[in-house]
Amino acid sequence: MLSDIEIAQAAKIAPINEIATNLGLAPQEIEPYGHYMAKLDLKNRKNDPMTGKLVLVTSINPTPAGEGKSTVTVGLGDALTQAGKKTVIALREPSLGPVMGMKGGATGGGFSQVIPMDKINLHFTGDFHALTTAHNTLAALIDNHMYQGNTLRLDPRRILWKRVLDINDRALRHTTIGLGGPTSGIVREDGFDITVASELMAILTLATDLPDLKHRIEAIVVGYTYDKEPVTVAQLDVAGALTVLLKDAIKPNLVQTLAQTPVIMHGGPFANIAQGTNSVQATKAALQLGEIAVTEGGFGADLGAEKFLDIKVPKLGKAPSAVVIVATVRALKMHGGQAKSDLTTPNIAALTTGLANLGRHIQSMQRYDLPVVVAINEFSSDTPAELALIANYTQQFDVKAIPTDVWAKGGAGANALAAEVIKLTEKASQLRPLYASEDALTTKIEKIVTEIYGGSKVEYSPKALRELKTFAKYGWDKLPVVMAKTQYSLSDDAQALGAPRDFTIHIKTLVPKLGAGFIVALTGNILTMPGLPADPAANHIDLLPDGETITGLF
Ligand code: ADP
Repeated sequence: MLSDIEIAQAAKIAPINEIATNLGLAPQEIEPYGHYMAKLDLKNRKNDPMTGKLVLVTSINPTPAGEGKSTVTVGLGDALTQAGKKTVIALREPSLGPVMGMKGGATGGGFSQVIPMDKINLHFTGDFHALTTAHNTLAALIDNHMYQGNTLRLDPRRILWKRVLDINDRALRHTTIGLGGPTSGIVREDGFDITVASELMAILTLATDLPDLKHRIEAIVVGYTYDKEPVTVAQLDVAGALTVLLKDAIKPNLVQTLAQTPVIMHGGPFANIAQGTNSVQATKAALQLGEIAVTEGGFGADLGAEKFLDIKVPKLGKAPSAVVIVATVRALKMHGGQAKSDLTTPNIAALTTGLANLGRHIQSMQRYDLPVVVAINEFSSDTPAELALIANYTQQFDVKAIPTDVWAKGGAGANALAAEVIKLTEKASQLRPLYASEDALTTKIEKIVTEIYGGSKVEYSPKALRELKTFAKYGWDKLPVVMAKTQYSLSDDAQALGAPRDFTIHIKTLVPKLGAGFIVALTGNILTMPGLPADPAANHIDLLPDGETITGLF
């Protein structure tokens, strides 16, 4: 089998204008970035109806390598196109953290990829650079405000706005800034997050247009005064400058799959500390332009799909007509106790035990009254007996589990899945929300923990309890909640695989993200600046002397 980059580089790629024209876009709606990528200017379509059906791809709790959600999303999109449906795929943009680190890019894999994968995985149209710059501009303006007299009386010990970088760099998690004497600023503790963890990323992906973007930026709480009063960007009076820096980044990007299905890629917020889905604007455009829009939520259904359904859907104004849960034999065996180093050895006993993890995710999606299908992302080590066992297991939920081989075969590997998805989207369905917007923050957390995770209790640290009091004082206690939890387990203990029950979720601290419009509830140890592994992907990436051919990118 060829590598992802070899397949991508050998592909026949269509000029982006051709993809855009086939999609029904007018020339003035397309801003090409080179031959194969474009920004979309869709302001004239603001009030067009979203006539397409939405399909959400999610997964079981993944292994560190990922279970192939993006790959299945792309393959399913191609299969739907081949089945005669006008399909648009809406995806997140890749972060350089995983590209240079451990997990690789976010353009799918094998014969189900988005291209030009090298450009998309590296700098793309510059959105993440713009976000990084806008974020750090605000950081510099905050420190300058304190240096220049601090009329807002910002407490340097209570600044919430850190700096960001789009690379995994553990050495920058905690820093001291302002060293070097009186002319070098105010000495204080600071730190770096990865760009995808920036509140600006969450804002960009939730904003419906430029005025909404600016309004949300104004609402960002950057820290507290010496009297513990919140200070916003509006008080610093710099929202205009930050909006200017993001004026192109807010436009969605158009690219294509190996089979020339249009892909709108935009934004990439973390699924553990933000809503983890691509932009509202990109999904909306896919629903306006296609008969079917296929999109994905980050990590497993407990994190990505929950946030998609509880946070994004109300902003988008449209719910999925079908949910595809991606499962792999190897991850299910891991949930059943098989060693991570040995996941290719057939093991019916471990698979039988591990299936409970899939069962939980099926039930939690059915809790929203949404039609569900399971896509078994096939690996060459899977046996027919293992695939049959999964299909047999899901029958009790009245859900089909369909072997899908899009990595090796492209869209042709998902014909059966596409047929089932079409069937499900043709049924009438009505999303049953998990919580009401007026529910208290603590009620929202409790509902997520008990109804989606399968836990029974929520325990707040003394710090979190103090924060709840502060939030009540400022009227922030009814905002939607983003649970920041490990993606590997339904609980907040990454080691608790399978389908744990009746556990306690520990809320350590609550962070207001008022620009994004939610509160982040941090459980356990969530890293907002990942580290690089012992053998980072970067060690294997190179450029051949022709100056064009990249090797080792995946
Ligand atoms: P996710 O979206 O769940 O994080 P991806 O779709 O990005 O996962 O896939 C993660 C990696 O696994 C990619 O490098 C991809 O090429 C590879 N991969 C996905 N599906 C398969 C498969 N069926 N066989 C082999 N490799 C696969």
